[in-house]
Amino acid sequence: MDKIRITPLGAAQTVTGSATLLEHANGKVLIDFGIFQGGTEAEEMNFAPLNFDPAQLDAVALTHAHLDHVGRLPRLVAEGFKGPIITHPASVEIAAVVLKDALHLMEQSTRKLFSEEDLQKTLKLFRPLSYNQKTEAAGFEIELFDAGHILGSAHIQFRTGSRRIVFSGDIGQRGTPIIRDPWCRWPEGAELVIVESTYGDRQHKELSSTLEEFCAIVNRAVRLPGVILIPAFAIGRTQELLYHLSQLMEEGRIPQIPVILDSPMAEKVTSIYRRHRECYDRETWEIIESGRLPFRPPYLREVGSAEESRSLSKLKPPAVIIAGSGMCTGGRILHHMATWLDKPSTSVVFVGFQGAGTLGRRLIDGAETIHIHGQELSVRAKIETLGGFSAHAGQDQLLNWCKSFSDQKPLFLVNHGEKKSCENFAGLLGENALQAQVACLNQTVEL
Ligand code: ZN
Repeated sequence: MDKIRITPLGAAQTVTGSATLLEHANGKVLIDFGIFQGGTEAEEMNFAPLNFDPAQLDAVALTHAHLDHVGRLPRLVAEGFKGPIITHPASVEIAAVVLKDALHLMEQSTRKLFSEEDLQKTLKLFRPLSYNQKTEAAGFEIELFDAGHILGSAHIQFRTGSRRIVFSGDIGQRGTPIIRDPWCRWPEGAELVIVESTYGDRQHKELSSTLEEFCAIVNRAVRLPGVILIPAFAIGRTQELLYHLSQLMEEGRIPQIPVILDSPMAEKVTSIYRRHRECYDRETWEIIESGRLPFRPPYLREVGSAEESRSLSKLKPPAVIIAGSGMCTGGRILHHMATWLDKPSTSVVFVGFQGAGTLGRRLIDGAETIHIHGQELSVRAKIETLGGFSAHAGQDQLLNWCKSFSDQKPLFLVNHGEKKSCENFAGLLGENALQAQVACLNQTVEL
C-alpha cells in the first residue's frame, strides 16, 4: 500500500500560520498557507525560507479565508506554485478581500510578503468547490463539508482508493447564527483526522447568557443615553452581531436604536454574506421566509468615507457603533474611542479575544488612561467583555465532533491550539478511548 505522509508546517502547538503538507505517490497537496501572527518572532516566520518547493505542489486546499489560513498564498505563487487553489465559492470571494486588505496594510511597512502582481496571479488560481461536491487533484478525490466557523468554512476530506483523511480546519460552535453547524455525519473508514484545538482546554459561556448581558448593555445605553462602541473582527463576528441585534430588536428585548457599521472591510464581507444564501441554516431561512432580512437591523447605517466616519463625533446617543480593528490596533474604532471613551455613559464591548500588548487588552486590564494618535485620554467608559460569541467550538463540542468518528477508530492529530490546549485535548481524547497525538512542527506522520 502507498504511504501517505502528513507534515505540519504551521499552526502546530500555536494558532496561527496554518499550513499542512499531505503527500502520497500520486501527488502533493498543501492545506492552507496562512500568516503567523502575534509578535516579532512569529511575524519573522512569514519570511523564513520554505522547506518545500512550491513548484512541486499539485494543489492547495483551503479550509477558509481567515488571514492565518490564507495570508501566505501569494508568496507561494511568487515562489513557483501554479496549481489550483480549491475552496468554497464564498471563501474565494472573502480571500480576495482579505488578501487585498493585507497588501494595503503592507504598503505602509518597509517589508512586503507579496506584491500586487503576486496577488493578482493568486486570485486567478482559485477553483471553487461547493459543499458535498467532489473534485480530483493531486491524485486525491477532494470533498468539502460545512465547518460552521465563518461563511464558506470547510472540513476537507481527501480520498485515495479506499483510504480517507479528514482535515477539520477551524470548527465553529453549534448554534452559531447564519451558517449551518459543523458536519458530523462521517462515512466509515477515516484513517487520520487532523483536528483543531483552539479551545481544547476550555468551555465557552452559554450564548443565551451572553445575549442577556448584551441586552443589559444596550438597555443601559438607551436609558442614559450613551454610545456603545464594539471593536469587531470584520469576518464573521460583525455579521453575527448584526444578526443578534436585529433578532433582539425583533423580539422586543432591546429598543430599535441606530446601529452604525463603520468598517469598509466588514461592509464588503457583509455583502458576501448576503449573497451566499446557500450557506444559511434553517433559522436564517425562516427569517427570510417571514419577509425580513437576517442581518439588517431596522436603523442600520453603513458608513462609507473617512469623512463621514469622523462626522460621527456629533452623533446623538443612543447608538451602537461597530468598527474595526477587533483588537483596537488600528482602524476607525480609534477615533471613535478618542471621542467617546472619556464619557461615563459610553460602553466599550469586547466580543473577541484581545492579544497581549494591544490597546484592547489594556482597556480590559483596567487602564485608567490611554494614548490615541498622541493624545492622552481618561477612560471613563464602562468596559465590558462578552465571552459567548466565539467562532470556535469549545472543548465539549470539539470532543463531540471527534466522537462522530468513534466507530471508525482513526488517529487524531491535534493541531491549531496553544501547546497546553493541544496537550490537554489530546489527553481528553485518550480518556475517551480515541487514539490521539499532538502535531509537531515539521515532524512527518506516515500512514
Ligand atoms: Zn478561522
